[in-house]
Amino acid sequence: MAPDGGARLDRRDPGDTCGFDSKARAAEDLAVLVERMRILQNRLWAEQRRAVLVVLQGLDASGKDGTIRRVFTGVNPQGCEVTSFKVPTPNELAHDYLWRCHAACPARGKIGIWNRSHYEDLVTTRVLGLVDDQQVRRRYRHVRAFEQLLGDEGTRVVKVFLHLSRDEQRRRLQRRIDDPERRWKFRPDDLETRRRWDEFLAAYDDAISATSTAWAPWYVVPADHKWVRDLVVASLLVATLTDMDPRLPEPDPGITGLRVE
Ligand code: AMP
Ligand code: MG
Repeated sequence: MAPDGGARLDRRDPGDTCGFDSKARAAEDLAVLVERMRILQNRLWAEQRRAVLVVLQGLDASGKDGTIRRVFTGVNPQGCEVTSFKVPTPNELAHDYLWRCHAACPARGKIGIWNRSHYEDLVTTRVLGLVDDQQVRRRYRHVRAFEQLLGDEGTRVVKVFLHLSRDEQRRRLQRRIDDPERRWKFRPDDLETRRRWDEFLAAYDDAISATSTAWAPWYVVPADHKWVRDLVVASLLVATLTDMDPRLPEPDPGITGLRVE
Protein backbone atom coordinates (compact mmCIF):
# COMPACT_ATOMS: atom_id res chain seq x y z
CA MET A 1 0.00 0.00 0.00
CA ALA A 2 1.10 3.53 -0.59
CA PRO A 3 2.50 5.43 2.39
CA ASP A 4 -0.10 7.69 4.01
CA GLY A 5 -2.84 5.83 2.15
CA GLY A 6 -4.81 4.70 5.21
CA ALA A 7 -5.28 0.97 5.70
CA ARG A 8 -9.08 0.70 5.14
CA LEU A 9 -9.03 -2.98 5.99
CA ASP A 10 -12.81 -3.22 5.74
CA ARG A 11 -12.63 -2.36 2.05
CA ARG A 12 -9.95 -4.93 1.22
CA ASP A 13 -10.90 -8.45 0.22
CA PRO A 14 -8.95 -11.17 2.10
CA GLY A 15 -9.92 -13.55 -0.72
CA ASP A 16 -8.37 -11.38 -3.44
CA THR A 17 -6.06 -13.25 -5.84
CA CYS A 18 -4.09 -10.11 -6.75
CA GLY A 19 -4.00 -10.90 -10.44
CA PHE A 20 -2.34 -14.28 -9.88
CA ASP A 21 -4.84 -16.33 -11.82
CA SER A 22 -3.48 -19.84 -11.74
CA LYS A 23 -3.26 -21.88 -8.57
CA ALA A 24 -1.96 -24.76 -10.69
CA ARG A 25 1.14 -22.75 -11.60
CA ALA A 26 1.62 -21.25 -8.14
CA ALA A 27 4.28 -23.73 -6.97
CA GLU A 28 6.30 -23.13 -10.12
CA ASP A 29 5.96 -19.35 -9.84
CA LEU A 30 6.96 -19.47 -6.18
CA ALA A 31 10.03 -21.57 -6.99
CA VAL A 32 11.19 -18.89 -9.46
CA LEU A 33 10.78 -16.16 -6.84
CA VAL A 34 12.51 -18.24 -4.16
CA GLU A 35 15.49 -18.84 -6.47
CA ARG A 36 15.68 -15.10 -7.17
CA MET A 37 15.62 -14.45 -3.40
CA ARG A 38 18.41 -16.96 -2.90
CA ILE A 39 20.70 -15.12 -5.33
CA LEU A 40 19.89 -11.68 -3.93
CA GLN A 41 20.30 -12.86 -0.32
CA ASN A 42 23.70 -14.27 -1.18
CA ARG A 43 24.74 -10.85 -2.45
CA LEU A 44 23.33 -9.11 0.61
CA TRP A 45 25.32 -11.49 2.80
CA ALA A 46 28.51 -11.03 0.74
CA GLU A 47 28.12 -7.25 0.78
CA GLN A 48 27.82 -7.13 4.62
CA ARG A 49 26.64 -3.52 4.57
CA ARG A 50 22.87 -3.59 4.90
CA ALA A 51 20.08 -5.70 6.36
CA VAL A 52 16.41 -6.43 5.71
CA LEU A 53 13.77 -6.69 8.41
CA VAL A 54 10.49 -8.38 7.51
CA VAL A 55 7.74 -7.76 10.06
CA LEU A 56 4.87 -10.25 9.91
CA GLN A 57 1.65 -9.42 11.68
CA GLY A 58 -1.83 -10.91 11.49
CA LEU A 59 -4.52 -12.42 13.66
CA ASP A 60 -4.37 -16.04 14.85
CA ALA A 61 -4.25 -18.54 11.97
CA SER A 62 -3.57 -15.81 9.41
CA GLY A 63 -0.56 -17.81 8.22
CA LYS A 64 2.51 -16.18 9.73
CA ASP A 65 4.25 -19.53 10.36
CA GLY A 66 3.26 -20.91 6.98
CA THR A 67 4.57 -17.83 5.18
CA ILE A 68 7.94 -18.16 6.89
CA ARG A 69 8.13 -21.87 6.09
CA ARG A 70 7.19 -21.54 2.44
CA VAL A 71 8.68 -18.22 1.35
CA PHE A 72 12.05 -18.58 3.06
CA THR A 73 12.69 -22.23 2.14
CA GLY A 74 15.39 -21.31 -0.35
CA VAL A 75 17.39 -18.80 1.63
CA ASN A 76 20.63 -19.64 3.35
CA PRO A 77 19.88 -20.16 7.07
CA GLN A 78 23.23 -18.60 7.89
CA GLY A 79 22.10 -15.21 6.60
CA CYS A 80 18.63 -15.32 8.06
CA GLU A 81 17.17 -15.02 11.56
CA VAL A 82 13.61 -15.67 12.70
CA THR A 83 12.34 -14.16 15.95
CA SER A 84 8.92 -15.05 17.39
CA PHE A 85 7.61 -12.49 19.84
CA LYS A 86 5.51 -13.98 22.62
CA VAL A 87 3.78 -12.47 25.64
CA PRO A 88 6.59 -10.41 27.25
CA THR A 89 8.53 -12.06 30.07
CA PRO A 90 8.87 -10.25 33.43
CA ASN A 91 12.36 -9.16 32.39
CA GLU A 92 11.07 -7.79 29.08
CA LEU A 93 8.23 -6.00 30.86
CA ALA A 94 10.78 -4.38 33.17
CA HIS A 95 12.17 -2.55 30.10
CA ASP A 96 10.59 -0.28 27.52
CA TYR A 97 8.61 -2.14 24.87
CA LEU A 98 11.17 -1.59 22.10
CA TRP A 99 14.03 -3.05 24.12
CA ARG A 100 13.53 -6.67 23.12
CA CYS A 101 12.80 -5.64 19.53
CA HIS A 102 15.92 -3.58 19.06
CA ALA A 103 17.99 -6.47 20.41
CA ALA A 104 16.45 -8.77 17.78
CA CYS A 105 17.21 -6.54 14.78
CA PRO A 106 19.20 -8.23 12.02
CA ALA A 107 22.93 -7.58 11.75
CA ARG A 108 24.41 -6.27 8.50
CA GLY A 109 24.17 -8.85 5.76
CA LYS A 110 21.18 -10.60 7.27
CA ILE A 111 17.47 -10.93 6.68
CA GLY A 112 15.54 -10.76 9.95
CA ILE A 113 12.03 -12.17 10.03
CA TRP A 114 9.76 -11.22 12.89
CA ASN A 115 6.81 -13.45 13.67
CA ARG A 116 4.80 -10.78 15.53
CA SER A 117 6.69 -7.68 16.59
CA HIS A 118 6.56 -4.33 18.37
CA TYR A 119 3.13 -3.95 16.74
CA GLU A 120 1.75 -6.24 19.45
CA ASP A 121 2.55 -3.33 21.76
CA LEU A 122 0.42 -0.99 19.65
CA VAL A 123 -2.48 -3.34 18.94
CA THR A 124 -2.84 -6.23 21.41
CA THR A 125 -1.96 -4.17 24.47
CA ARG A 126 -4.48 -1.57 23.33
CA VAL A 127 -7.33 -4.04 22.84
CA LEU A 128 -6.52 -5.65 26.19
CA GLY A 129 -6.73 -2.22 27.81
CA LEU A 130 -3.10 -2.27 29.00
CA VAL A 131 -2.38 1.10 27.35
CA ASP A 132 -4.72 4.00 26.75
CA ASP A 133 -5.27 5.87 23.48
CA GLN A 134 -2.92 8.66 24.41
CA GLN A 135 -0.09 6.19 25.10
CA VAL A 136 -0.82 4.44 21.82
CA ARG A 137 -0.54 7.69 19.89
CA ARG A 138 2.77 8.35 21.60
CA ARG A 139 3.93 4.87 20.68
CA TYR A 140 3.08 5.50 17.01
CA ARG A 141 5.54 8.36 17.19
CA HIS A 142 8.24 6.18 18.79
CA VAL A 143 7.74 3.43 16.26
CA ARG A 144 7.95 5.76 13.26
CA ALA A 145 11.19 7.18 14.65
CA PHE A 146 12.58 3.75 15.57
CA GLU A 147 11.96 2.44 12.07
CA GLN A 148 13.46 5.59 10.58
CA LEU A 149 16.59 5.01 12.66
CA LEU A 150 16.80 1.47 11.28
CA GLY A 151 16.38 2.74 7.72
CA ASP A 152 18.96 5.51 8.16
CA GLU A 153 21.46 3.00 9.52
CA GLY A 154 21.08 0.50 6.69
CA THR A 155 18.15 -1.78 7.55
CA ARG A 156 15.31 -1.92 5.07
CA VAL A 157 12.05 -2.48 6.93
CA VAL A 158 9.16 -4.24 5.17
CA LYS A 159 5.93 -4.76 7.10
CA VAL A 160 3.31 -7.29 6.11
CA PHE A 161 -0.20 -7.59 7.51
CA LEU A 162 -1.76 -10.94 6.62
CA HIS A 163 -5.39 -10.04 6.06
CA LEU A 164 -7.65 -13.00 6.84
CA SER A 165 -11.44 -13.18 6.73
CA ARG A 166 -13.38 -14.13 9.83
CA ASP A 167 -14.84 -17.11 8.03
CA GLU A 168 -11.49 -18.50 6.98
CA GLN A 169 -10.19 -18.02 10.51
CA ARG A 170 -13.08 -20.13 11.80
CA ARG A 171 -12.18 -22.94 9.39
CA ARG A 172 -8.50 -22.85 10.32
CA LEU A 173 -9.10 -22.74 14.08
CA GLN A 174 -11.56 -25.61 13.78
CA ARG A 175 -8.95 -27.63 11.88
CA ARG A 176 -6.45 -26.97 14.66
CA ILE A 177 -8.91 -28.38 17.16
CA ASP A 178 -9.82 -31.41 15.02
CA ASP A 179 -6.42 -32.37 13.61
CA PRO A 180 -4.07 -33.93 16.21
CA GLU A 181 -1.03 -32.77 14.20
CA ARG A 182 -2.18 -29.17 14.49
CA ARG A 183 -3.74 -29.17 17.94
CA TRP A 184 -0.59 -27.95 19.68
CA LYS A 185 -1.05 -24.61 17.96
CA PHE A 186 -4.47 -23.97 19.41
CA ARG A 187 -4.88 -22.05 22.63
CA PRO A 188 -8.29 -21.39 24.21
CA ASP A 189 -7.23 -17.71 24.31
CA ASP A 190 -7.49 -17.68 20.52
CA LEU A 191 -11.28 -17.86 20.88
CA GLU A 192 -11.31 -14.82 23.13
CA THR A 193 -9.25 -12.91 20.55
CA ARG A 194 -11.67 -14.08 17.87
CA ARG A 195 -14.62 -12.76 19.88
CA ARG A 196 -12.95 -9.36 19.83
CA TRP A 197 -12.35 -9.52 16.06
CA ASP A 198 -13.77 -6.07 15.31
CA GLU A 199 -11.71 -4.40 18.03
CA PHE A 200 -8.52 -6.05 16.79
CA LEU A 201 -9.22 -5.11 13.21
CA ALA A 202 -9.97 -1.50 14.15
CA ALA A 203 -6.75 -1.33 16.21
CA TYR A 204 -4.74 -2.79 13.31
CA ASP A 205 -6.37 -0.38 10.89
CA ASP A 206 -5.39 2.54 13.08
CA ALA A 207 -1.83 1.31 13.70
CA ILE A 208 -1.15 0.51 10.06
CA SER A 209 -2.51 3.87 8.94
CA ALA A 210 -0.37 5.71 11.49
CA THR A 211 2.88 3.88 10.80
CA SER A 212 3.02 3.24 7.08
CA THR A 213 5.85 5.49 6.01
CA ALA A 214 8.13 5.97 3.02
CA TRP A 215 10.96 4.34 4.99
CA ALA A 216 8.92 1.46 6.43
CA PRO A 217 5.77 0.82 4.39
CA TRP A 218 2.99 -1.57 5.33
CA TYR A 219 1.67 -4.06 2.82
CA VAL A 220 -1.77 -5.53 3.42
CA VAL A 221 -1.64 -9.03 1.92
CA PRO A 222 -4.84 -11.01 1.29
CA ALA A 223 -4.36 -14.23 3.25
CA ASP A 224 -7.42 -16.43 2.66
CA HIS A 225 -5.62 -18.26 -0.17
CA LYS A 226 -2.28 -19.53 1.03
CA TRP A 227 -0.84 -19.75 -2.49
CA VAL A 228 -1.71 -16.07 -3.16
CA ARG A 229 -0.26 -14.99 0.19
CA ASP A 230 3.02 -16.81 -0.55
CA LEU A 231 3.34 -15.35 -4.05
CA VAL A 232 2.59 -11.82 -2.85
CA VAL A 233 5.05 -11.93 0.05
CA ALA A 234 7.77 -13.54 -2.09
CA SER A 235 7.21 -10.91 -4.82
CA LEU A 236 7.47 -8.16 -2.23
CA LEU A 237 10.78 -9.48 -0.98
CA VAL A 238 12.21 -9.91 -4.45
CA ALA A 239 11.13 -6.35 -5.32
CA THR A 240 12.68 -4.99 -2.12
CA LEU A 241 15.98 -6.84 -2.58
CA THR A 242 16.12 -5.92 -6.27
CA ASP A 243 15.60 -2.28 -5.37
CA MET A 244 18.38 -2.47 -2.75
CA ASP A 245 20.63 -3.98 -5.41
CA PRO A 246 23.22 -5.57 -3.10
CA ARG A 247 26.63 -5.90 -4.75
CA LEU A 248 29.27 -8.57 -4.44
CA PRO A 249 32.47 -7.03 -3.09
CA GLU A 250 35.06 -6.04 -5.70
CA PRO A 251 37.51 -8.93 -6.07
CA ASP A 252 41.04 -8.29 -4.90
CA PRO A 253 43.05 -7.58 -8.11
CA GLY A 254 45.69 -10.02 -6.85
CA ILE A 255 43.17 -12.86 -7.04
CA THR A 256 42.05 -12.41 -10.64
CA GLY A 257 43.63 -15.08 -12.82
CA LEU A 258 45.41 -16.74 -9.89
CA ARG A 259 46.00 -20.46 -10.46
CA VAL A 260 45.58 -22.93 -7.63
CA GLU A 261 48.35 -25.53 -7.86
P1 AMP B 1 1.66 -17.24 19.01
O1 AMP B 1 2.08 -16.26 17.95
O2 AMP B 1 0.47 -18.05 18.62
O3 AMP B 1 2.80 -18.07 19.51
O4 AMP B 1 1.14 -16.40 20.27
C1 AMP B 1 1.88 -15.42 20.86
C2 AMP B 1 0.97 -14.61 21.73
O5 AMP B 1 1.74 -13.62 22.39
C3 AMP B 1 -0.12 -13.87 20.98
O6 AMP B 1 -1.35 -14.06 21.62
C4 AMP B 1 0.31 -12.44 21.03
O7 AMP B 1 -0.74 -11.52 20.99
C5 AMP B 1 1.05 -12.40 22.34
N1 AMP B 1 2.02 -11.29 22.39
C6 AMP B 1 3.15 -11.15 21.69
N2 AMP B 1 3.75 -9.97 21.99
C7 AMP B 1 2.98 -9.35 22.90
C8 AMP B 1 3.05 -8.11 23.59
N3 AMP B 1 4.08 -7.27 23.38
N4 AMP B 1 2.08 -7.80 24.45
C9 AMP B 1 1.05 -8.64 24.65
N5 AMP B 1 0.91 -9.83 24.03
C10 AMP B 1 1.85 -10.19 23.17
MG1 MG C 1 -1.35 -18.75 18.27
